[in-house]
Amino acid sequence: MVENGAAEYQFFCDECGECLEVNDAMRETLIQKGCVICSAPVTTAEFSTE
Ligand SMILES: [Zn+2]
Repeated sequence: MVENGAAEYQFFCDECGECLEVNDAMRETLIQKGCVICSAPVTTAEFSTE
């Protein structure tokens, strides 16, 4: 079980410089829909697990 809202990944947008901590579901959403701030396409390379 994963706690709701638990941060599992660090997302850093190359386009707008936004930095977010996201969970797995949010990561999938970002990859599918793009950056929530600037709408730039998001790839898995923009996430780290640290
Ligand atoms: Zn962005």
